[in-house]
Amino acid sequence: MDYLPIFADLKRRPCLVVGGNDVAWRKTRMLLKAGADVRVIAPVLNHQFQQAVQQHKITHVADEFEPSHLDGIFLAIAATERKSVNALVYQSANQRQVLVNVVDNTQRCSFIVPSIVDRSPIIVAISSSGKAPVLARLIREKLEAILPQHLGKMATIAGRFRNQLAKTVTSFSARRQFWEKAFDGRFSELVAAGQEQEAEQELIDLSQSDSPQGQVALIGAGPGDASLLTLRALQLMQQADVVLYDYLVSDEVMDLVRRDAEQVCVGKKAGFHSVPQEETNQLIVQYAQQGKRVVRLKGGDPFVFGRGGEELEVLFDAGIPFQVVPGITAAAGATAYAGIPLTHRDHAQSAMFITGHLKPDSDQLDWSTLARGKQTLVIYMGLMKSGHIQQQLLKHGRGGDTPVAIIERGTQKTQKVLKGQLNELEQLAQNAASPALIVVGEVVNLSEKLHWFGKQEQQLQQSAVVRLA
Ligand code: SAH
Repeated sequence: MDYLPIFADLKRRPCLVVGGNDVAWRKTRMLLKAGADVRVIAPVLNHQFQQAVQQHKITHVADEFEPSHLDGIFLAIAATERKSVNALVYQSANQRQVLVNVVDNTQRCSFIVPSIVDRSPIIVAISSSGKAPVLARLIREKLEAILPQHLGKMATIAGRFRNQLAKTVTSFSARRQFWEKAFDGRFSELVAAGQEQEAEQELIDLSQSDSPQGQVALIGAGPGDASLLTLRALQLMQQADVVLYDYLVSDEVMDLVRRDAEQVCVGKKAGFHSVPQEETNQLIVQYAQQGKRVVRLKGGDPFVFGRGGEELEVLFDAGIPFQVVPGITAAAGATAYAGIPLTHRDHAQSAMFITGHLKPDSDQLDWSTLARGKQTLVIYMGLMKSGHIQQQLLKHGRGGDTPVAIIERGTQKTQKVLKGQLNELEQLAQNAASPALIVVGEVVNLSEKLHWFGKQEQQLQQSAVVRLA
């Protein structure tokens, strides 16, 4: 180990920055964040430095560096553009046993500054010992994505509860188990949801009982491409005890579920339900009542034609706590990947999402509104009713030459886009398979220019893009 990682308490300690440029400012800002008493030596200061001086946040000595500036200093950073000055700072600091860092010159450092993931009071420091700073930065980016934002708040609340817990739970190992349960369970969820008071109450409840309370996360898995999952969805999928999912959820997404989690398919396909909705509702309730962390994973967004609301009402009635994680709905994901903007200043001032899964004789859609020009109409589950949709739109005044697209398995590697005109929609739909979206509107034409996903594949397989004459 070339360096010992330590976390220094700089509060009110005199720290010296030599240099008044942008790099020096970045270092100064970091020192100020840690509460240091910063003195800057530089004949000229950049704009931010000048502001900080005016606001009395730092002390400025408008002079060239001299070794005596290091008197009484705890730590020094040299960030000037002049090698000779930096060398003098390094040499003088060493003579005085003052910790010193010359920016971008590991040879002239008695300490180096790591990359930081700041979830204060949790701080993760990463260093490549000066060997590969870019690699350290990439690791940092990965950690930034994995570590939830509420980690810091969670640690702060836990810190407040520590003494109280020690009074009631006396054994060390019982306390350790308590915290493992809290950080991995409902306490963490409540903090993430911004419900601090409830989170503190959860700690109290947890310290008084040994049977954990179950909880449910209703999560939108997006249209298929796993990289479109939210970070929140991924975190909860990794913590789940049991995952109930639909057919629509892609294999790629299911691969990211915690390996040990029980996986239950309550598949729904347009046209038939393999597990009746009531049974699904009951299953979710039962698992939660067993104290499990249940993830209910749905394609797209759970509140868009997904019956997510109905499932939550059942949980509400059963008194089971829940949270909702939105997902990218198919209309947003599939059109983005097909290069069809839902709105456009010249072609569509509004967009409407409807379901084509209409009850046979009770179509209550307002077709005259849906058939208006200069708007985009997106139809979920519309393949089987494409003839009816085509007929109604034409009857209510939409032009027969209005561009339409059918996007099959949007965002997935096998995405297929069929294009044509409204008067041939039914014919087009015969070449498409579920899951697919129908898009009606002038914006469809933009995909000629804006199409970007799966281009090579589609050029190779001419049949993937069909333009009917
Ligand atoms: N909650 C989902 C919609 C469920 S309804 C969401 O927000 O996206 C199921 C319908 O959604 C399918 O019949 C199809 O019309 C559409 N759909 C879902 N995923 C799709 C995808 N990857 N590509 C195209 N259409 C999709």
